[in-house]
This record gives sequence, structure tokens and C-alpha cells, in this order.
Amino acid sequence: MVAGLREASARDVDRARSSDSDACMIQISQRVTGLKPSATIGVDARVKALRASGVEVISFGAGEPDFDTPANIRDAAIEGLNTGKTHYTLVEGEPAARKAIAEKLKRENGIACGPEHIVISAGAKHSLYLALQCLLDPGKGQEVIVPTPAWVSYRPMVELAGGSVVELGTKIEDAFKVTAAQVERAISAKTAAIILNSPSNPTGMVYSKRELTAIADVLAKHEHVVIVTDEIYEKLIFSGEKAFSIGSIRELAERTVTVNGMSKAFAMTGWRLGYACATGNGGGFAKAMTKLQGQMTSNVTSFCYPAIVEALSERSAEAVETMRKQFAKRAELIFGIVSGWKDVKCAKPMGAFYVFPDVSAHFGKVTPGGRKVESAKSFAEALLEEEKVAVVPGEDFGKCAEGCVRLSFACSEKNIEEGCGRIGKFVAGLK
Ligand code: PMP
Ligand code: GLU
Repeated sequence: MVAGLREASARDVDRARSSDSDACMIQISQRVTGLKPSATIGVDARVKALRASGVEVISFGAGEPDFDTPANIRDAAIEGLNTGKTHYTLVEGEPAARKAIAEKLKRENGIACGPEHIVISAGAKHSLYLALQCLLDPGKGQEVIVPTPAWVSYRPMVELAGGSVVELGTKIEDAFKVTAAQVERAISAKTAAIILNSPSNPTGMVYSKRELTAIADVLAKHEHVVIVTDEIYEKLIFSGEKAFSIGSIRELAERTVTVNGMSKAFAMTGWRLGYACATGNGGGFAKAMTKLQGQMTSNVTSFCYPAIVEALSERSAEAVETMRKQFAKRAELIFGIVSGWKDVKCAKPMGAFYVFPDVSAHFGKVTPGGRKVESAKSFAEALLEEEKVAVVPGEDFGKCAEGCVRLSFACSEKNIEEGCGRIGKFVAGLK
């Protein structure tokens, strides 16, 4: 120790835990102080904290399957761990896993790609982050078109990369879908990219091939626009539509970045495995993403690569289909209940595991517990306080989503019946 400096003591630990510590403050960057925390993660963390303190909460907050990862996929990782896959690998991922992903994309999605176009990252979230960092520069005035309601993380990711978001608002009456004409009107010389997400978080909407092709026709005319398509819920469709990948359209293929991952289809959220496929710039875009990842996180956990190969193989198809059927059943159940809530509008979920009812007819009313409901946020807050039911308020999903709340039905039918019953009672009691 240098003379005059002291070693930390147990008392210092207590001091460090207290928010009114008088130690000198670290100046946190504006980039981060100005950043909104994720609303979806916020609700989930709140539920976890309440449960840890002994409060029983029914949660429609978490955007993650409640199932365990199928056994064959878990076994593949265990074998990887036991056979020495514990070292650094290529940043973009082991060749066998990238080959399995490229083959899946060719076979199932019609995307003409090879392993050299695949970058495996710590979740689709990081894939999207990398893609946007590789597309945008601060100070250039670049815009990214985002049809809304949209997942809460798109806006912060675009803004962190220096771009600005142009929201394309949609209506519940139109099943929350944008039209090709809307996209056409939004495109300008400043447009760098558009983010598409079907099936959608938070609305559960799924575009048909015809609708996506109409949007593609517009995008084909604007060669400066990159398409970032988030297909993470592609396996979870209940409406009879078939997932359609815009990256399979030859005219758009090289300026499309297709993002997907293991989290939702295979119940692997905690594994943190996602990937991007970018064929653009003769493989140069994938290389740029790899370079950036090489300065951020390096490769994903190396014994997980065999689990990716296993998940994408025929051997896992049955387990995926079983989960999809369960979600489909829950979608019917929850839609039936939510549709019966007093003065609440709801579009039928077609995919993913979300319903997104509009509760705005109740704004301005008072709860049985005397709380004023003025917004989706105060609705969700009062609901949690008074009925111990968690939903995600709509505000951070976009301007047009401010009257809505998101319910994830990745939970048991019993919880759906009990929790939605409580919400129905809560809504009926608003005066
Ligand atoms: N996109 C959407 C639309 C999502 O809902 C999620 C869920 N968090 C992700 C991407 C990211 O998923 P993950 O990082 O777990 O792969
Ligand atoms: N995608 C999930 C959700 O929307 C998980 C949390 C998150 O990353 O946003 O709830």
C-alpha cells in the first residue's frame, strides 16, 4: 500500500451498498445516463424481486418460454463440455455450427448463403446490436424505419449506434400491420435501414408472404435501404401462415441481414445464443460484425456449439412442435378471456407468445384501491400492487402502443385463467 492509502474494511462494504455514500462519484457517460432501461427486463426483475421477498405474483411479463430446453440439446452441450470444448474458438463461431445454421437457412428459409455469412453471437439481441453498429454512424443523420408497436430494444440499439428511429405506427384494427404504401412514404434519402419483425413482439402479429412481398417490392426500388429482419419467433405461428424470410428474395438478399436465435423456438433463453446471416458485400458485412464482436465478447460459450447443431437437426423438430402446439392452445385460451374484459380491444395472436390488448378506454378512471389510472404504466403498476399480476406497459413499444399492455402467455393455463381472471375483475372495478 502507498503511504496514506487504506485497505477497504467491512464498514466500507456497507458504505458501498448504501446509495448515499459520500465517496467521490464516478461520472457516468451521457450515452448510458440517457439510455432507457429495458421495460421488459424491468418488469421481469420486479417480479423476481417480489417473489424473492415472499410475494406471490402471477407474471405475464417474461418474454421467454416456460419450458425446459429439450434433453437432446442439453446433452449435446454436456458432451461438448466433457470433451474439451472449453477453449476460445473463432469469434464468429465454430465451422460446424455455422454450417448447420447456413443449411437451416437454405433448407427452411430459402436464403442462399454459406457458413461464411453466419456470425453467432450472445443472443439475437447482440446480433441486432452488432448489425446496427455496423450500419450506422453518429452525426450522419441516418434513419431507421421501425414499424410499431415494436420490441423495446430496437430504439435504444439504433440510437446507441448514432441513428434515429422513424416509427411507422399501426392500428389494432389493422392487426398492427404496416402496409407497403406506408413503408414507401417513410423512405427518404436518409433511410439507412428498416427493421422488420414477424411474428411480432409485442403484438403477436404475423405477416403473410403476400404482405411481405408487397413490402419487398417497395424496398427493391430503394437500393440504399438495408433490411434487418428479426425472425426469432418464426417457429411459433398458430394462424396457419408459413414463416416467410424476406432474405430469400433475390433482389433484396444482399442487403438483408437475417437475425434469429435459439432462445424462443428451443426454450434456450438463458444460453444466450443467436445468429445473423449477412451475404452482403461479398461476405464483408459478416466480417465487419465479426471484427466488432472480436473487440466486444469474442466467441459464444464454446461447449454450446454442439447444442446449436443438435437444436437445428431433425431430432429436435418434434419437441419444437410440441411446444408450439402448447402455445397455440394458450393463445386461444388467453384471447377468449381477454376479449371478454370490459371495454378492452384485442387482436387475436397469430404467433410468438404475446397478446397486446388496448386498455386505454379505462384511462382517467380510479382503481378499487384508489389509484388513478392515467396510462398503461399506471394501469400496470396498480394491477401489480392490487392484484399481484404483472404485465408490461405499452409505452416503450412505440407511440401508437401507449394505450396497450403486453401479456406473455408463456405460462401455464392455470396461471392464464387465474391471472387473466384477476385482470378482468380489476378492469370491471375501475370507476
Ligand atoms: N428479438 C425479439 C423480437 C425478441 O423478443 C427477443 C427476446 N429478447 C430478441 C430479439 C432477443 O432474443 P435473444 O437475445 O434471447 O436471442
Ligand atoms: N424478448 C423478451 C421480452 O420482450 C425478453 C426480454 C428482453 O430481452 O427484452 O420480454
